[in-house]
Formats: sequence, C-alpha cells, structure tokens
Amino acid sequence: MTIDHPSFGRIADDRVILFDTTLRDGEQSPGFSMNLDEKLRMARALEALGVDVIEAGFPVASPGDFESVRRIAETLSETVVCGLARSGGKRDIEAAGEAIAPAKRRRIHNFISTSPLHMKYKLRMEPETVLELIASGNRAARNFTDDVEWSAEDGSRTEPDFLCRCVEVAIRNGATTINIPDTVGYSTPDEMRAIFRMLRERVPGAEKVIFSTHNHNDLGLAVANTLGSLEGGARQIECTINGIGERAGNAALEEIVMAIRTRHDKYAYSERIDTPKLLGVSRMLANITSFDVQPNKAIVGRNAFAHESGIHQDGILKNAQTYEIMTPESVGWTKSSLVLGKHSGRAAFRDKLSALGYKLEDDVVQQAFERFKVLADQKKTVFDDDIRALVDDETRDHDRIRFVSLDLIAGSKRPAQATLELKVDGDIRVATVDGNGPVDAAFRAIQKAFPHEATLALFTVGAVTEGTDAQARTTVRLEEDGKLVDGQGADADTVVSAVRAYVHALNKLLVKRVRTEPEALSA
Ligand code: MN
Repeated sequence: MTIDHPSFGRIADDRVILFDTTLRDGEQSPGFSMNLDEKLRMARALEALGVDVIEAGFPVASPGDFESVRRIAETLSETVVCGLARSGGKRDIEAAGEAIAPAKRRRIHNFISTSPLHMKYKLRMEPETVLELIASGNRAARNFTDDVEWSAEDGSRTEPDFLCRCVEVAIRNGATTINIPDTVGYSTPDEMRAIFRMLRERVPGAEKVIFSTHNHNDLGLAVANTLGSLEGGARQIECTINGIGERAGNAALEEIVMAIRTRHDKYAYSERIDTPKLLGVSRMLANITSFDVQPNKAIVGRNAFAHESGIHQDGILKNAQTYEIMTPESVGWTKSSLVLGKHSGRAAFRDKLSALGYKLEDDVVQQAFERFKVLADQKKTVFDDDIRALVDDETRDHDRIRFVSLDLIAGSKRPAQATLELKVDGDIRVATVDGNGPVDAAFRAIQKAFPHEATLALFTVGAVTEGTDAQARTTVRLEEDGKLVDGQGADADTVVSAVRAYVHALNKLLVKRVRTEPEALSA
C-alpha cells in the first residue's frame, strides 16, 4: 500500500513521518516558553535533524505565537511547517492559514475533543455538533493548504463507533492526516495498536490518509504507546525533543528513533533523522529552557553511555557490545568536543557558533567573543557545551537590567560582602551589601540595586562540563503574585552565574508576555 500525500508525494508503507511538536505542545508547558530567536534556532536545528513536520505554534493564541509561526514559515526550506487550530474556531483556522502562508510546504492541524467526558464537560456540545465542526473545520483548512491534519482530542478515551464516524467525516471533508492522541496518557500499547487497526479496517477512505499517534507520558508509556501505534498502522509520530510537553510530557523523539534503529528487526520502519545530531539538539533545548534532562534519561542523559562499575568497564573494553546496544557516536556523543582555546580567533569562534546552530548579529558575536576570551583564560579546555552556555546567556533578554560586575569578599573568616554593579535602563547602579554567605550577599545586592517584590522560589547550581574549572550553570526561579519565572546563568564563577540567573529571571518578569489561554489549548 502506498499513499499519495500532498506534501510528501508517494509514501512507501514502511515510511514513518516524524512530526515534532517541541515548539507547540512542549513550549506551552510551564517554564518552557521560548522567545522568537530561540524558537527560530530550534526550528532550524529540527530541520537539520531531519524531522518531516514542525508544529511551530498555535497562531490564534497570541500575536507572539502568530509571529513566531510566521517567521518559522519564512525561515525553513524543507520541513513542513504546521500551525494548530481548533476545528470550531473560524478565526483559529484563518490565523493558522495566514501564519503558515510563507512556508514552502505547509499544514494546518485542526482538532476537537471527541470523548464523552470532554464533549459533555469541556465543550458542552452534543456529538452531532462536534461532527459538524469536524466537517466545517477541515473544509475551512483546505482553503489554505491541501495538507490538513485533524486530531480527535482525547481520542484514546473516545467511544469506538463515534471515533470511526468522526474520522470518516474528517476524511470526507479533506483531512489527509488523522491523529489519535492519548491526550491524558492513560492508554496502553495494545490499546493504541487496536485503535489504529480498527480505524483502518472500519473507516471508509482510511486507505487514503496517514494515521498519526500523539502520546503523553503520564504513566511513563508514551514511547511504548507510540511503538504500539506503529504496529497498528500509524505512520506519523508526534513527539518532542527530550520528551517535553504538557504535564509529564510527550513521547521523546530521540527514544522513538533509536528504538526503531536499534530494534529494526522488530520495528522495520524508515525515517530520515540524522541521529548524530540528536545530542546537540537535546542540549540546545536544555540550554534554551533552563531544564536539563535527568542523568539517567535514555539516549541523551549524562549517564546514558557511562559505565561506572568495574565489571561493565572490563566488558566494554573487551567488546563494546557486551553492554552497549548502540554506539554513543551514533547519537552524537563524541570525545572530540574539545573545540577552542585561548588562542582561538574570532573567525574560529564564529565558525563554531554556526556549527552549533547559532545565527547572531555582529555585536552579539563580539560580546560573546569577549566573554569567551575571559573564559578561555580561566579554563584549560573550552567545550561545545561551554560555548552554548555562554552564548545562550549572552543572547537572553537583558533588555532592562544587565549584569556589569561583581566584587566579593567571602570565606570562613569574616561575613560575606558583595559589591554589585547593574545597568538598569542604561544607568549604572552600585550596591554594597553584607550577607549570610556570598550568594545571599549577592542576591541582597540585586534587591538593593533594583528593588522588587518577587521572592526566590528555587535555586539550583550544576556544572556545564566536568572538572573543577567547569562553568557553573544556575537556575533561579522567582515568584511574584503566584506567577513563576525561571532564569538561567552560566559563568566560571558560581556566584556570578547565580547573579546572572537572578537578573535573567527579573528581566523575564518585567517583559512577561501576556498570553491568552483559550479554553481548549491542549491537544
Ligand atoms: Mn499533547
């Protein structure tokens, strides 16, 4: 069986479409919001990674969302750019259609809930009304593009006969991809397999469309449910880098792809991911969002290929296959991430930035280069992760408040004292404050130089790389009126890194974007 698809042409039966929703489902979860530049950088990295479709955002949700989808549509050349819309929202579909218009290949993804629970309590609609909106939503979307996806929100908890009717109506009205999400992460692999088998057997027109799966990880089953869906005949996978997403997150792209690659005997599907880029994209996302993956995270966690016990190390040295089912190099782990030193020039630095996926204005490159030279003096070896941490720190929204300098007296013999210089709206402010340790003194100095009501809700410090000369990477969470913002900083000096993180969080509080939250935002 082959399908003639509006964006991909004839698709072989074993081909799996990778649909990445890091910038939509991932970005809309708490603490993971990204600014326009960060989204563009992620979108370019995802295109280079080889994903087939990028869900770039939910254009009707806010002017900022609209703008970022539009800019991504203008930027990408290969990947299909997709905008999300509610089936029942006329304005939703127009906004999505306008936002994706500049893209070479474009898709509108419209959705509506189909489960008894969601129809009754969330939508307050009769099933017949839902069927009408499925028809009108897909027809409206086809006015903007031939590549239309429809999702049955809470599809895995939808009554089977009704689900079949909904899918039939969607196909008849122009949907070319049918997505069945396990919206609440409740399903099991055999249930997902059965849903897709049923739809393909029972729904007229099923042979003309691509079936898609979208799994949440509330029970830790998202990747397993994705693989189960493939066995049932799904041929599009919706997923995110590092598995970010609503609540416990989505199925992780890197895990699904490596499961298919490593167990090709069992999952004989083809996709186009350039797997040695997986680690870099994962790190880029972690740096942008301030959220590291846990050390034992499959594929991209710090320990994923670390062999600590003597017995394992002995086996690995004799034959790597004793304990390794895939090579670290195949997903981007290399020993040669040593990149630059203190004698590296501006051109080498610029080359490295573009190799890491950054596209920066000259003045930002210059500022980052100056910080790199300082770091290279402090640190023997400068790794890719150091560069990422430094540049991400430099490119954040420091609009109103900028860190200038910090002078510290600390140690066990006398109280800590911090003298801090900040630039606030262009004016230098200096504060000297005593504190209970250097971090306390530095944070009190920020409070004195820039008085504010926010309180510190979380403070964590980690190392960017290994060794005592590693840069510290700090996360500071501030709370104000029940709202939380996370800031991140990196520096060879731990306290400076903490101050940078605090200032980043303060700036985020100040420029906090106002975002409407449509009732049915999740999908
Ligand atoms: Mn979702």
